[in-house]
Amino acid sequence: MPAIVGRFAVVVSLVTIVNFIFMRIYGLSHLVTPVYYFLHAIFVGGPFVLFGLLVIVFQIRLQRRLSFLSRKDGLTGLDNRRTFFEHADIRRKKCKGGVLLLVDADYFKRINDTYGHQAGDICLKRIAKTLKHNVRHDDIIGRVGGEEFAIFLQNVSLEQACMVGERLTKPITFRPSTTSVSRDLRVTLSVGATVNDVNQPLDTLFARADQALYKAKEGGRAQLVVWNEQMRMH
Ligand code: GH3
Ligand code: MG
Ligand code: MG
Repeated sequence: MPAIVGRFAVVVSLVTIVNFIFMRIYGLSHLVTPVYYFLHAIFVGGPFVLFGLLVIVFQIRLQRRLSFLSRKDGLTGLDNRRTFFEHADIRRKKCKGGVLLLVDADYFKRINDTYGHQAGDICLKRIAKTLKHNVRHDDIIGRVGGEEFAIFLQNVSLEQACMVGERLTKPITFRPSTTSVSRDLRVTLSVGATVNDVNQPLDTLFARADQALYKAKEGGRAQLVVWNEQMRMH
């Protein structure tokens, strides 16, 4: 509230000055008293200008919020699928090397079914946090499906990426704040990895990482599998 009073005072002062200048320019200043400029600014010009400014500020904020919502995942704050694809595609063409990791929570449906959807949401947020903590600031992370995430690690060797991927397969602890569950729960992740190949479209890399992820699930989950030519589907 004090902010709006302050803004109104500034607007009233400016409108008073502008009124005064205009009346002088058009030679009408002899028709009104100095009090006129002030009263006009308070009751007519000031509210009008302030209203206009508030509408503009509101529009800018709304625009920013809509832009955020269209680019980010509302639950985790990570890039959404479309944004991840855009960013990863730009980055992988610029950087040397790089590895794509596709990460999927293991038996996630059980968490929902046993502890409720809210516990599942808390788990997803915890996973997102863990992913962020385990990569560098300028790596790209997105939530590309319900309980599926993707990471593009730039300028890394496969060995370095595997170290990151292996770390992600360790159990992650989270505590649902629902009344029915007051103890820590654990979730593991399976990871499929593939080396960046700028001669292939990103969709192909995704398909490869997905094939590797499938193998990780098949092999018992909570593990990292790197794509190789033998996994190519015909
Ligand atoms: P797997 O180890 O084979 O990946 O098994 P899974 O149970 O993790 O995979 P499945 O595909 O069977 O189940 C995924 C579940 O994720 C089903 C869906 O209801 C849930 N899910 C998707 N998005 C959300 C979400 O935003 N919040 C919550 N709580 N659950 C979600
Ligand atoms: Mg899953
Ligand atoms: Mg899945």
